[in-house]
Amino acid sequence: MNDDSFTDPATVAASMIGISDAETGDVAPHVKPATTYKYGQGYVYYRDNGPGMGDVEEVLRRLEGGKAAMVFASGMAAATSLLVSLGSGAHIVAPETMYWFLRNWMVKDAPAFGLSVTLYPNGNLDAIKAAIAPGKTKAVWVETPANPDWSITDIKAAADIAHDAGAKLFIDSTTAPPVITRPLELGADVVMHSATKFLNGHSDVLAGALITNEANDLWERVHHARAGFGGTLGAFESWLLLRGVRTLDVRMQRHSENAMRVADAMLANPAVSHVLYPGLPDHPGHDIAKKQMKGFGGMMSIRLTGGTDAAARAVLRTKLFRNATSLGGTESLIEHRGPVEGPDSPTPQDLLRLSVGLENADDLIADLEQALGQ
Ligand code: PLP
Repeated sequence: MNDDSFTDPATVAASMIGISDAETGDVAPHVKPATTYKYGQGYVYYRDNGPGMGDVEEVLRRLEGGKAAMVFASGMAAATSLLVSLGSGAHIVAPETMYWFLRNWMVKDAPAFGLSVTLYPNGNLDAIKAAIAPGKTKAVWVETPANPDWSITDIKAAADIAHDAGAKLFIDSTTAPPVITRPLELGADVVMHSATKFLNGHSDVLAGALITNEANDLWERVHHARAGFGGTLGAFESWLLLRGVRTLDVRMQRHSENAMRVADAMLANPAVSHVLYPGLPDHPGHDIAKKQMKGFGGMMSIRLTGGTDAAARAVLRTKLFRNATSLGGTESLIEHRGPVEGPDSPTPQDLLRLSVGLENADDLIADLEQALGQ
């Protein structure tokens, strides 16, 4: 049996068998900080490629069941390197609701690279089909669950639509890491992660990752873009990310359990008008989520009957849920998302985004209840 025989993501993450232990028997990965290498032994210069990030790339490749992985200095570096590598003239189909900073980049900045984008209403497969410009559309972008309404898109169906049109399917799977969803198995061509979030899981590393099902010309161009823009992930960050990934499976189970408890409590709270969580049976994407997710993850949003003012007040009153941006750490966070995303955002102004952490669920519920009370 070789190291690759163990394919279950929980085993790959927890064991990291074959990573760093071949020569010394060490059971934990090493920091490999060298930036330059003696010629003739495979590596040349770290900005292009180096063993400092090779270990984490191998673990992420195995976790997603891909052919190759690349890590980047941030999720944005990963996503933009991938998109610009489609080449000038490429058309992209992307969701209306997705990580707002990347959406803004696609709409406002990507044209400077010769890229154009058409937005589709989330989860709507007919709208994806209609948005595709035959011959011109090179990629369909899907974020599922999508930030911050946690709408769900059927990955398998989206892959078929993209492939029928000769386009690639790219999935931002940041909130559904590979112990929850494995998009490449469902037909996606490239998976992207803000590894800053659940993959690392401790709010102490900024990182991005791409995993591909084919080491093709596009992948070569992405590698070139990473080196060209200098968006390579540093060796210390790579090591910290590996350390975070080891507990991925148990963390995600607890995130999912806690989020389900919080969602149920919020449903019963009169201050809450909507609970947006794919684990709830009345969530519009619940049936598809059940098919393509193992657990529903730690992200949800609530909308308040008291509107914007109530939302602005509540984030100042939570004690355990820290009022901060980002997501995916052990600690719970709450954010009034609309004002952060600005006037172009489709996010309702009464929406609070919750990153449900690993604390005791009763404590989390009590904190929200006191913050939402009169
Ligand atoms: N994709 C999603 C879903 C995100 O939430 C984020 C960041 O919040 C990104 C991409 C961008 O990642 P990063 O902040 O690591 O650049």
